[in-house]
Amino acid sequence: MSTFLGMPRGVSKEGQLPAAPRGVGHLRGEEPFPVAARRALADSQLRANLAKATTSIRAKRARVVAELPDWEELRTAGSAIKARTLGNLDGYLELLEERFTERGGTVHWARDAVEANQIVTGLVLEAGACEVVKVKSIVTDEIGLNDALAAAGVNAIETDLAELIVQLGHDRPSHILVPAIHRNRAEIREIFLREMGDADPALTDDPQALAEAARLHLRRKFLSAQVGISGANFAVAQTGTLCVVESEGNGRMCLTLPRTLITVMGIEKIVPEWADLGVFLQLLPRSATGERMNPYTSMWTGIVPGDGPQDVHLVLLDNGRTAALADQAGRQALACIRCSACLNACPVYERVGGHAYGSVYPGPIGAVLSPMLTGIKDNASLPFASSLCGACYDVCPVKIDIPSILVHLRARHVEAARRPRRVPGPEAMTMEMAAWAMSGPARFAAAQRAGRIARLASRRGRIRRLPPPLSAWTSARDAPVPPGQTFRQWWQREHQDPDERA
Ligand code: SF4
Repeated sequence: MSTFLGMPRGVSKEGQLPAAPRGVGHLRGEEPFPVAARRALADSQLRANLAKATTSIRAKRARVVAELPDWEELRTAGSAIKARTLGNLDGYLELLEERFTERGGTVHWARDAVEANQIVTGLVLEAGACEVVKVKSIVTDEIGLNDALAAAGVNAIETDLAELIVQLGHDRPSHILVPAIHRNRAEIREIFLREMGDADPALTDDPQALAEAARLHLRRKFLSAQVGISGANFAVAQTGTLCVVESEGNGRMCLTLPRTLITVMGIEKIVPEWADLGVFLQLLPRSATGERMNPYTSMWTGIVPGDGPQDVHLVLLDNGRTAALADQAGRQALACIRCSACLNACPVYERVGGHAYGSVYPGPIGAVLSPMLTGIKDNASLPFASSLCGACYDVCPVKIDIPSILVHLRARHVEAARRPRRVPGPEAMTMEMAAWAMSGPARFAAAQRAGRIARLASRRGRIRRLPPPLSAWTSARDAPVPPGQTFRQWWQREHQDPDERA
């Protein structure tokens, strides 16, 4: 990526990214995943909401995927296009900049969240706006754009229904695609009545009534907004075209009504050619919402005089992506098209929800992306937030091998923990002791005999609690009871002289 790193405007000429990107949208307080997950598991309402929503999206996805006899070929094509793109990312980005600029747009390069926020805030203030309307965009959550705008006196209004629920509820998104998946309709009604100044006091929790209340509330905002802000699902290098897919039509309002349009996009969202969209526009809706096609697919290429926004900007965001690209094993995570099928398929996500991951990217892909984008140190527990069952890989439309990347990240974590330290950690100490015991037959036999003492702690064939440091194991699962005799004892008995045995 040296070519990209040498590019103009905001990207370091020295070719060095900061070790950890600044201002990444981390949502975790001080809580690591195991602590947050335990609390989430105790919330039966949350678990019921999640189970209902993920079960229904999974079934819808399975139905529409089964309709396509060439689904596996489509997955292979999607994966190949992404691999080709990532292999020549700098070239495609330069081409995109050239084509986007030719058509009257302006491209900005941002190394990290701080730079991206400065660029966007500057553009909004330049346009003289104190309020902006936003299309649902996870990358703007990643950089914490709404907070940066608020600090500059600009009110950012989320216009996607689920994002609006999250924003009005002073809450955090818990799903890539369905940010309010943890809320049921009674809770949503309460939020609307409490926070939406213009909500009808007789509002019911009927989904249609809730959607209508949001529609009326947002309509006034669309008509008065001077600036729209979006992410992008895809950008075509060949033509300089940006593409946003959505289900509600709010996105199209934001993309067409304001005079100024600012799009923030991670550099990995690019595809080389127009024809590549033909693959992804089949893969994405089926994997995401279980639909055959997205209800609204908006594309724009620069400026059309007298039609739509007349001041169009594209902010290309790195924020740790070039560092992820340099990781041979992990770079495939950059192929993600944010469909969220892996979240809906994951047994861990289904039980704990998105907040426990402490990142704007939850679920299996979040457990991979967050450590890669923001560093393993801040996300040490995330690669372990998986049963490695492989369900995420089976459903991923671009065949990202998430379980293998998780194992790779776990290995990096163990390596980092192994670096010389004055007092070895409990895990390292246990492993050292095991290695010592297993390296001599007499020691091994003694250890086996000693292990049988643990039988005293068993109840009904299970050991539910062991003393530290082994308590870390039994805090989350039962330990098996050691057998009544060791293998050696069994062998000796079985091969004893029959006379002796008698
Ligand atoms: S990793 Fe695959 S399944 Fe998960 S969100 Fe990304 S594209 Fe979808």
